[in-house]
Amino acid sequence: MPQLGPPVLLPSGRVGRQIAQNRSDKPVYLDVEHKLMCPHGERAPTLMAWLSAERTDPNYTRPSGCDCTNIDGLMSEYAYDHTDDPNLPLSLYKLLGALGAEQKTVGSRPQRKALDSAESEVWVQPAGTIVCAHGNTRKMVARMVNGDASTRFRCKSIQYCQCKLYIPRRNGSVFATTSKRRRVLRAKGGMAHGQETKALSGGAVAQVGDEVVV
Ligand SMILES: [Zn+2]
Ligand SMILES: [Zn+2]
Repeated sequence: MPQLGPPVLLPSGRVGRQIAQNRSDKPVYLDVEHKLMCPHGERAPTLMAWLSAERTDPNYTRPSGCDCTNIDGLMSEYAYDHTDDPNLPLSLYKLLGALGAEQKTVGSRPQRKALDSAESEVWVQPAGTIVCAHGNTRKMVARMVNGDASTRFRCKSIQYCQCKLYIPRRNGSVFATTSKRRRVLRAKGGMAHGQETKALSGGAVAQVGDEVVV
């Protein structure tokens, strides 16, 4: 029975453990929902949808850093030990600690790095707040980009920046918990319909590009 690799956080925000290598030597990962993923943490149905969209529209851009051109190894059946699931912490901040994520303190608050892509770094504070490398939430970054930094960010502990904070919210990703919680709240009638774009934890606001892709 092949042993699963150690848990890693993939660019889609899903935690994966390597289960195999495909015929082009790319690793194949198994996510926490026992689905297979490419090295970027994307599942076969998502990849197939993108590949077909790209065939019909050459200008199609994926909402992901994934550049896989096939689903090799993602449709295979692998034998593995189901009992070997890691007991990963539920808090995102603690999970990142368990995964050995980079940590630093900005101002007076520690933060751990969750994702690092060419255009965006995603960090997490102990309370689960998602921030940029400078400790700013997406709401703050958006206001800075809109140019009202001089009027509203007089506090010296806030670093002015122009970061892009792209937060993938795929099903089963570590960042999907907030939207799951919102769905539960909505189902319970605890949240009015027009409040869907209300601030998530730490002021991160769901925007276009955050669509959840299975
Ligand atoms: Zn990929
Ligand atoms: Zn920043």
